[in-house]
Amino acid sequence: MEKICVAVRVRPSANGENVNGFHWKVDSNRISLHRSHGTPISGVSYAFGNLRSNHLFDQECSNGRVYRLLIKDIINAAMEGFNGTAFAYGQTSSGKTFTMNGSENDPGIIHRAVKDIFEKTEETSDREFLIRVSYMEIYNEEINDLFAVENQKLQIHESLVRGVYVAGLREEIVNSADQVLQLIQLGEANRHFGETNMNARSSRSHTIFRMVIESKGKDNKFNDSPDDAIRVSVLNLVDLAGSERVAKTGAGGVRLKEGKHINKSLMILGNVINKLSEGGKQSAHIPYRDSKLTRILQPALGGNAKTSIICTVAPEEIHIEESKGTLQFASRAK
Ligand code: ADP
Ligand code: MG
Repeated sequence: MEKICVAVRVRPSANGENVNGFHWKVDSNRISLHRSHGTPISGVSYAFGNLRSNHLFDQECSNGRVYRLLIKDIINAAMEGFNGTAFAYGQTSSGKTFTMNGSENDPGIIHRAVKDIFEKTEETSDREFLIRVSYMEIYNEEINDLFAVENQKLQIHESLVRGVYVAGLREEIVNSADQVLQLIQLGEANRHFGETNMNARSSRSHTIFRMVIESKGKDNKFNDSPDDAIRVSVLNLVDLAGSERVAKTGAGGVRLKEGKHINKSLMILGNVINKLSEGGKQSAHIPYRDSKLTRILQPALGGNAKTSIICTVAPEEIHIEESKGTLQFASRAK
């Protein structure tokens, strides 16, 4: 698997097929805008060359498939001690949360990752594991703890021992997938604490679900030469704030402020990913410090870390301009 994988996922149309005058045609290495009855719209076409690291998904694609192609390798590597990060990027209503959290019939990648990790800890008889989880939200460049509502406006610190970390963030030690999934439900409830309009806030904040997987070789009779090196890896599963531009007119006050923070942090994320995918000597100048999001994720981006970005697209005609923006982001990231 490549270090950075980029996917585009066009979700099913909310109002059924053929209500649009246009549709996004998804081929194996290209996404392009077509009129419903076939002819391509010139100039609206995005090529994705490298099939090993890019994946284009149409509305038929399940979360299971997204997981197998983009996340499973990150989880395997995390069990071996490598950091990893997966993002869902796209405008509000394009399917980010569906991809991360899923539905009852088609669990999302967080659910699948958690299940997989605990299955692997049971299969690995020669190591013992310590797994910790945390869940945070970045709203208006402020970090809030989703496991503890009283932990608001947390600060990022850095130390030689711990590296970059969020001071005061609650970490829960977990022993089973069910325990983690229950904690996430609690976090979801906290996310909407004191809110009048649930969707409004959640689409304007980034959420980071983090698992820290620590392991060491067991010293037992089945294992003559235990590997006592401790492995620690950090896995981040990130549901980004909606990428839509704030309207030039109409948005004022709180909305405008939120929009500016979101646009800025997504732009910085794009710059970081872009520099990382260029690779080489650029790495000294990666602008991680320019936003809280990239600063928090820094240890699990670049270096030996594996990253997948799933860019979600809403198929409706009214969303064409935002969809183009998302496809541009995906093209730059690849
Ligand atoms: P976002 O988090 O980007 O704002 P959501 O994930 O909430 O968007 O998706 C918007 C709506 O579309 C939700 O009702 C969701 O269940 C539905 N949806 C999104 N993606 C899919 C998909 N691939 N298959 C079926 N329904 C989807
Ligand atoms: Mg969402």
